[in-house]
Amino acid sequence: MSELTSLTIAAARAGLRAKKFSAAELAEAHLVAMERARALNAYVLETPERAHAMAKASDARIAKGEAHALEGIPLAIKDMFCTANVRTTAGSHILDNFIPTYDSTVSSQLWRDGAVLLGKTNNDEFAMGSSNETSFMGPVTSPWRRKGSNTPLVPGGSSGGSAAAVAAHLALGATGTDTGGSIRQPAAFTGTVGIKPTYGRCSRWGIVAFASSLDQAGPFTRSVRDAAILLRSMAGHDPKDTTSVDLEVPDYEAAVGASVKGLKIGIPKEYRVDGMPAEIEKLWEQGRAWLEKAGAQMVEVSLPHTKYALPAYYIVAPAEASSNLARYDGVRYGLREPARDIGGLYEATRAKGFGKEVRRRIMIGTYVLSAGYYDAYYLRAQKVRTLIKQDFEDAFASGIDAMLTPATPSAAFGIGEKTGADPIEMYLNDVFTVTVNMAGLPGISVPAGLDGQGLPLGLQLIGRPFDEATLFSLGQVIEDAAGRFTPERWWA
Ligand code: GLN
Repeated sequence: MSELTSLTIAAARAGLRAKKFSAAELAEAHLVAMERARALNAYVLETPERAHAMAKASDARIAKGEAHALEGIPLAIKDMFCTANVRTTAGSHILDNFIPTYDSTVSSQLWRDGAVLLGKTNNDEFAMGSSNETSFMGPVTSPWRRKGSNTPLVPGGSSGGSAAAVAAHLALGATGTDTGGSIRQPAAFTGTVGIKPTYGRCSRWGIVAFASSLDQAGPFTRSVRDAAILLRSMAGHDPKDTTSVDLEVPDYEAAVGASVKGLKIGIPKEYRVDGMPAEIEKLWEQGRAWLEKAGAQMVEVSLPHTKYALPAYYIVAPAEASSNLARYDGVRYGLREPARDIGGLYEATRAKGFGKEVRRRIMIGTYVLSAGYYDAYYLRAQKVRTLIKQDFEDAFASGIDAMLTPATPSAAFGIGEKTGADPIEMYLNDVFTVTVNMAGLPGISVPAGLDGQGLPLGLQLIGRPFDEATLFSLGQVIEDAAGRFTPERWWA
């Protein structure tokens, strides 16, 4: 059965249609693998009964010749997405008893297309983090290890559980959310493909909100083609999210393997940051060479406001978070800590329910929005955001079709290595990803190689608004050149 878990979504789709195996067998193979991999803590909830029932329904539809686009494909769902009658915690104590009565639009579209739910995956609390270590449910251990070492590594974050599940063959694909890099950074750390689509491409309805002007959903997969397949089901206009855009969803899969000849690829010089490891620089050069060989033209570009992206992000995101998280008050749903009066109830519930990083973000956010500081911090950060967006617009207006950058400034680090007194150490991880959220653009991370210690590294491609298709074409060139990467199994 083990080879069933190593299939791509495209191969599983073909196998199911040809009746080489059933959706029930495919789901069962994954459930067994999940049970053996509990040491990774990738799932916070396994849903075997639901998986069996959904797979059985898929088999019935396949038998009748009524298979939908994702019929029988077993997936993991990040615990930021509400799932009807299935506990949804956002990785927080304040929601650890929350069972939504509805599905997020994105997950409901996956079920509409026949996908099978395997379980809910771990994430940083309210998706705040870059290592999955802020989760109330404990950290996720990466399936990857450095050569000859047992040191447990982080899978990246905040979608660490989804990334680890896909890398360790505990799901054929998974959903993630990306506010400042939470899909692309864990994808890079685990040798998986992750795409954050254009802001507005996927509905945010039913996804636990972190920073609403930055949040987007996207898939994790083991191939570029699979990411194209999943995004097509996840994307689309939703009247329940007024920021979702009413634009037809293209057949992304058709772009996989399309020629990239003549495309102009920008190399933003500001992404050559101080102290960048030589291996990252080398990987970036390699990526340029691969795309050039495929007929693309490399052009140096300048995005002069890049250096302000990280500080501006860490004002805008906490500001929006402090407002979004005001709803967790112990009254409507989630944790309730009894107290003598209503003020006491709010205080006790929020003090107990939120972890340290979430409390830090609420305090930063409240501070930058407060009278007297609003103009100096929040308003200025919004202006910087406009300038960052303008940099990209200027580059695209000059004829650039996409940009190539490293996805992360380093390979995965050890659990506990960056959780010291200075939170900025962790924040620096997002240096190459936050710009894309600030500008609302699509970005994909594609595995491009291994570092000297045998850990995966990713390259990021940034596209024009709503031009995910070009990212899939370019991503496939990198995948063809670099190959795919699978960790050696050390867990049971
Ligand atoms: N690491 C970033 C943060 O902590 C981004 C997280 C995300 O994209 N959800 O805010």
